[in-house]
Amino acid sequence: MSHPLMKVFTSTLCTTLHTPQYEFLSGAQTHYYESPERLEAILQYLTSNPDSFEIMEHVEDFGYEPIKRVHKQDFLEYLKTAYEEWIKEGGHPNGVLPATIPHFKLARLGKLRPSNILAKSGEFCFDLSAVITKDTFKAAWNAAQVTLTATKDLVRISDEFEKSVAAGTVSRENPPGLYALVRPPGHHAQSDVCGGYCFMNNVAIATQWLIDQPDLKGKDGGPKKIAILDIDFHHGNGTQEIFYTVSNPLYTSLHSNEDYPYFSGSDLEKGEGEGLGFNINIPLPHTTTDDDYVETLEKLIKDHVIPYQADYIIVSLGVDTFKDDPIAGFLVTSEGYPRIGNAIRKIGLPTLFVQEGGYCIEKLGINVGGILKGYLGKA
Ligand SMILES: [Zn+2]
Repeated sequence: MSHPLMKVFTSTLCTTLHTPQYEFLSGAQTHYYESPERLEAILQYLTSNPDSFEIMEHVEDFGYEPIKRVHKQDFLEYLKTAYEEWIKEGGHPNGVLPATIPHFKLARLGKLRPSNILAKSGEFCFDLSAVITKDTFKAAWNAAQVTLTATKDLVRISDEFEKSVAAGTVSRENPPGLYALVRPPGHHAQSDVCGGYCFMNNVAIATQWLIDQPDLKGKDGGPKKIAILDIDFHHGNGTQEIFYTVSNPLYTSLHSNEDYPYFSGSDLEKGEGEGLGFNINIPLPHTTTDDDYVETLEKLIKDHVIPYQADYIIVSLGVDTFKDDPIAGFLVTSEGYPRIGNAIRKIGLPTLFVQEGGYCIEKLGINVGGILKGYLGKA
């Protein structure tokens, strides 16, 4: 039996407010690819499939605490005040963009931390894609709150699932799932630096919140264990950095071995201290096909995710692996995505999908929908 409906958590408070007019790619000024139209396209597909998806436009306010557990206070303060300061100092109204970034060779010369906005824009951002506009903080904040709202429901449906499995009314092969349709995305946002279109790390905030709930006990009596599957085309440097020294969650990522963010994502990055062995990077070539991708994902699940014995799966869901993605892409086709969702379903654990990248607007709906329907056992 497959699950009849997947709940989709979203809100225009996150999807529509952050609208930089342009960015720079390969030296050229282009339109901003990480746009509200992306999520409109996905939402349109999901609403036209009411037999599979139920849209929940409801945001619970979890406040600052869960965000502060992942991001540093001075960084959050910067995100909140940057645009106003930027305009006051004569910055361009498109939004805050750094002019000088403390490259590691420059940074090792000294310890200066000037407080003016031009210096801070470099200190807290690692590239030219994370443009801060008037409402970026509000959008990122609400993306985190929507993701937390979905996470709270994950706990509820997971409890129901376990009871139903115990009663023999539901099979473990059909775990329940939820989807947080949010932007800005999160997996490139580190504890105190934004970049890669990301400002707050939604997946990391949700994961830490689950670990922090005192009433949620895992199989060994400790906190619940979470395995993160990052299937965006790009390496999730932010999620890796945030959890690099801890053994919960397990962070796993399939991503391009020769693309953005270039300086992270090697399979030699395995975690440190208590976290050693709990960071699994699997870099793949641009020539990766549907078969290659699904085979690698299934092996990752068998070798690392299943043995970890997690309580929940959180998926950083990017479909910029698509063959026609305008700024990224393996050779993955629309037929490949249901197979990816199916592989994740077979883990047999309640799963929260959180939207990350994917820029081929015409195919975003069918590709994201393909993963989710594959998970539901409907594709
Ligand atoms: Zn990406």
